[in-house]
Amino acid sequence: MNDHTFESVIGLEVHAQLLTQSKIFCGCSTRFGDKPNSHTCPVCLGMPGVLPVINRLVVEYGVMTALALHCEEVPPRSIFARKNYFYPDLPKGYQISQYESPLALRGYLEIPAGENRLRKIGITRVHLEEDAGKLVHGEGPESESSFVDLNRAGVPLMEIVSEPDLRTPEEAGEYLRRLTAILVYLGVCDGKMEEGSLRCDANVSIRRRGETALGVKTELKNMNSFKNVEKALAKEIERQIELVSKGKKVVQETLLWDPDNEVTLSMRGKEEAHD
Ligand SMILES: [Zn+2]
Repeated sequence: MNDHTFESVIGLEVHAQLLTQSKIFCGCSTRFGDKPNSHTCPVCLGMPGVLPVINRLVVEYGVMTALALHCEEVPPRSIFARKNYFYPDLPKGYQISQYESPLALRGYLEIPAGENRLRKIGITRVHLEEDAGKLVHGEGPESESSFVDLNRAGVPLMEIVSEPDLRTPEEAGEYLRRLTAILVYLGVCDGKMEEGSLRCDANVSIRRRGETALGVKTELKNMNSFKNVEKALAKEIERQIELVSKGKKVVQETLLWDPDNEVTLSMRGKEEAHD
């Protein structure tokens, strides 16, 4: 539907795997594709009594990115917190992440806005955190089982959160391509969305043109390519416009993009609470 009475409001959360050789809080290798659970130690397995020690290069990569994104503030002190959720890929039951005091605040990235003009898209924050492990679902005689590979647990991630400044799926795609180019140029991430080293979630809502309040948003996940981000957003905006045009309400929820059938599916989110 191409309804000009509505505009969409989009914000992106990008998780970039940082190109360090060791994990964020221990000396285990970050190498991809090795035997499951071959790069683990008491720290990344979450054994009681261990002491995580921050990888200096992770902080340097974060600061390089913050400066490239024109962040106004890179505070001298930033703090890690425990984000609690219960899921088999998370051995500790919490993820070490930055919450109230992130690495950097208030940046921007410029995207083309027609006729040689550029438009600034605000960056809310840049923060550091650890990745979780990976669930591998069994096949054949093991199809009833799931397995956990913790090689990825503790791999450094940088999360870059944008302001809800994007207005079309194409702008979101452009923002993502520019951001990826910056990360790859800095050498902090390889930018391979298809392989999961760069992941993107989107918050999207619609409102009538001229309104300034934000509508109810939904969160889109599982978009593993630039094209899929644009397609999923277009589809979700269309769905929301259709709902509102019929006098129905958008429900706040998390939706998974199904790239094969090109539809979004509702999912119940991981239980989470900030500590
Ligand atoms: Zn380890």
